[in-house]
Amino acid sequence: MPRRLTHIVGGLILSIPLVGVSYWGFSEDFDYLQLTLILSLSVVCAFFGSILPDLIERPTSPDHRKFFHSWFMLSVFFIASFVMCFVLIPLYNTKVFVYLIFAFLLGYLSHLLLDSTTTKGLKGKDRSF
Ligand SMILES: [Zn+2]
Repeated sequence: MPRRLTHIVGGLILSIPLVGVSYWGFSEDFDYLQLTLILSLSVVCAFFGSILPDLIERPTSPDHRKFFHSWFMLSVFFIASFVMCFVLIPLYNTKVFVYLIFAFLLGYLSHLLLDSTTTKGLKGKDRSF
């Protein structure tokens, strides 16, 4: 069972470079100050995303991995994030939210990937895709 620090480090290693590269590649007006702001806030979002499944379903027993430790829940978060982006971008006229949501999702993804490497695996491993 990966420890919490492993999840945090894994989430940061996966998300921060990808968020930085995506900002570099997709932003219309590249700005180092905004990049610094996005990366700083992405650390918080990736941190939260990488420990959220274990915050909701506490790892007190080996069978703690239930609904929030499933690929289905990641898909739900992805779809909710997609809808949120359509609401937030026109409302605040900035795309900073996209990078922060991306960091959160990558943190969540890293948690599921790390948990799936254990012998116990994720919930519904035999039933899911
Ligand atoms: Zn977990």
